[in-house]
Amino acid sequence: MARLERLVFGTIRRYRLLEGGDTVYVAVSGGKDSAAALWTLRRYIEVYPMDVRIVAFHIDLGFSTSGEVLRTVEALASKADVDLEVVHVGDFGVDVERAASTLRRPVCSVCGAVKRYLMNRVPRERGATKVATGHHMDDILVNFIKNLAGKHLDWIPKMGPKLVGTGRLLTKIRPLYEASGEEVAKYVRAVGLPVAKCPCPYTMGSCSYAKDTLEMVRSLSVRPGAVRTRHISTYLAIRGGLDKMEEGAPGIKRRTVRGIHELARRMGVPNPRYLAQCSTCGEPSSSPICTFCRIRVASQSGVGKTAEKI
Ligand code: SF4
Ligand code: ZN
Repeated sequence: MARLERLVFGTIRRYRLLEGGDTVYVAVSGGKDSAAALWTLRRYIEVYPMDVRIVAFHIDLGFSTSGEVLRTVEALASKADVDLEVVHVGDFGVDVERAASTLRRPVCSVCGAVKRYLMNRVPRERGATKVATGHHMDDILVNFIKNLAGKHLDWIPKMGPKLVGTGRLLTKIRPLYEASGEEVAKYVRAVGLPVAKCPCPYTMGSCSYAKDTLEMVRSLSVRPGAVRTRHISTYLAIRGGLDKMEEGAPGIKRRTVRGIHELARRMGVPNPRYLAQCSTCGEPSSSPICTFCRIRVASQSGVGKTAEKI
């Protein structure tokens, strides 16, 4: 059994990520992290047979690269021998690029909000009990530091390997929680999982597409300060610091991510304001009309409206 599989299987057992009767929708983006999440979950129920259904779930964002991404996730689902379900943002009246322009927001910010919404709503409506994502240990550590630095403490209870859902919020699981980005990349290459070469024309966000580009920049040993974009520069600086820590004290990243889980657990359930309902669609929202509904309206409006905070 591969080292990454032993690691992920331990995470699944330690945090009870899978339970009999589960239907788990794995959000696949065409990138390597989500491919590894799907494959290792699939491998787990192969090695330890249990009554769990795994479904690959893809959100087509309607970008110029969507065709290649779609072919990649189809190949992945076929290799894993699981059903693939695809939703197109256009079918929900959303045009990510147009809404970003109307709202004068970065495309990644609009895209992230759309994905978070659909990743909760669609699987729940189709009978899923859990949704799985490809966030790995390095993502958790970088996001934890950024949230601390930005005093976004409300996010910390959401940073464990399993976020138990309430009401219309589905339970979210992160099977790669204790695996590093490098371990994941090595595994994906060794198994030969299909990964899109050019998954997205934008690379400023925190999703796996953007991270793949950042990993590439990183592998070229670019000094963080030499990179002009603030998001990339911050990411590289934190990742560089974490890697140095790991070199000097092997295992410190894994121990720290377990500490983050313990902190998230002790902080308890997320702030209840996140559990209010959108008056338009009825989905969970922190404001009277949810971000997704505002994006949908902006998708149908002309370009150049006053900037709006989403
Ligand atoms: Fe969306 Fe990620 Fe592309 Fe940004 S990089 S637009 S968050 S898919
Ligand atoms: Zn809404």
